[in-house]
Amino acid sequence: MKIRYRKWGLRIVATGIVILGLLVVIVLNPMLVYANKTAAGNYTICSQNRPDPYFIEHLNDVTNLLKASELYEGKQKLTICMNDGSVFPCLVQAIQGRAFAYGYYGNVVLNGTLNARDNYVELNGYKWNLTELIAHEATHCMQFHKLGFFHTNPIARFPQWKWEGYPEYVARKNKACLVNNISHLLETEHTDNNNWISFDDSTGTVIPYYKSWLLVQFCLDVRKMSYAELLKDTAREAVVTQYMMSWYAARK
Ligand SMILES: [Zn+2]
Repeated sequence: MKIRYRKWGLRIVATGIVILGLLVVIVLNPMLVYANKTAAGNYTICSQNRPDPYFIEHLNDVTNLLKASELYEGKQKLTICMNDGSVFPCLVQAIQGRAFAYGYYGNVVLNGTLNARDNYVELNGYKWNLTELIAHEATHCMQFHKLGFFHTNPIARFPQWKWEGYPEYVARKNKACLVNNISHLLETEHTDNNNWISFDDSTGTVIPYYKSWLLVQFCLDVRKMSYAELLKDTAREAVVTQYMMSWYAARK
């Protein structure tokens, strides 16, 4: 009897390992589950339907944003997974939770409803600028490729403001007036904001990301640190915030 239980136990464990292995292979290689693959420069777009030409146009703007990053290596290929009927975004959402998009390894996975023509993704009634969303997630891919598996979050456990603030810094380059943005943050914090802050183009972001972006911008543009130096720096978020607000008080 004991031997029979052991056999069944081994079979269940072996089946679990095979299923997990398959899941990992699919999550890392989304092309396996999409009907169409469209090449566009360094990007491969995985979709169920033909990609909107407006979407492909935005990718040039994404590339220009990424090129300004110290992590950029022209040779890196990115796969963009559309949310147009494939089960794949649901699978990633089940693993990582609900979000506008996900960026890992060399994959950017879009979630929510896409409006390529007006350049945004909508989720729960909120809009995120599409170009900046892809640039944000692509920067996570660059972090992974440049720093390596063991020096990338969640394993490396870099503070969240440095990890999320940098992709925002890369993506929001065209909205980067630090003094104005700090003023806008302070004004928004005094409103009923539901943790959301808007830009002039009617898209927005969550307030913790916005704050992280401003802190990273302060460190890189005002204190002239590189991102590599910022990751090594031991100053805590509260201390950097204090420095930034003193700098702001002298300029507003
Ligand atoms: Zn992110």
